[in-house]
Amino acid sequence: MIAERWAAIRAEVDAAAAAGGRAAADVRIVAVSKKHPAAVIAEAHAAGVRDVGENYAQEMVAKREAIGELDGLRWHFIGKLQRNKAKLVVGAAALIHAVDSEKLARAIDRHAAEAGVVQRILIAVNVAGEQSKSGVDPDGVEALLEAIGAMDHVACEGLMTMPPWPEDPEDNREYFRAVRTLRDRLRTDAVELPELSMGTSGDFLVAVSEGATLVRVGTAIFGPRP
Ligand SMILES: *Cc1c(COP(=O)(O)O)cnc(C)c1O
Repeated sequence: MIAERWAAIRAEVDAAAAAGGRAAADVRIVAVSKKHPAAVIAEAHAAGVRDVGENYAQEMVAKREAIGELDGLRWHFIGKLQRNKAKLVVGAAALIHAVDSEKLARAIDRHAAEAGVVQRILIAVNVAGEQSKSGVDPDGVEALLEAIGAMDHVACEGLMTMPPWPEDPEDNREYFRAVRTLRDRLRTDAVELPELSMGTSGDFLVAVSEGATLVRVGTAIFGPRP
């Protein structure tokens, strides 16, 4: 089942990328495995998945231990990261998607320095102004980017967003476009911000057409979460 769903979604993403004049390799699909058992990750890997997304620090650590090394597999931490859990995730995640404060970035910087690594991160943008959601106000992204620029062990690779679940996938197009526009405005030669993490099972094709380089797809690959 996972292999068929994965192949179908990969084909849809490739077509959406091509329609926007981009190569398939420019859009990575992060298969979101939160709350599913570790075994589904091994199954997904066998089907060709190379990027998996987890939301909870202990769950990610436990699954990495359970699975062991799988060739080319990258772990993405896509959830809200508590500062006191940063140590578990730094170095283990190839990319931390949802950095939303300078305090969290400092904690990541400290743990990355201890581990002797540079941790790649994205800044989460609360683009729809939702009270219930974390993420930085669009107005606050520039200041956070500057603060992170002064940290030696954190590298900001771009922006992430998690707009509301859409009735119609088109409902979120304006939000994806706003995040891309913000990225285009803030990028410099020194800080290129190549990555845009946006789109979930409900709207990933719209996100790709608006420039997403990482889509985070769970349910459409793994089925409903247990
Ligand atoms: C769970 C989750 C996803 C995946 O959502 P689906 O609707 O299952 O595709 C994507 N991004 C974040 C931040 C999530 O927490």
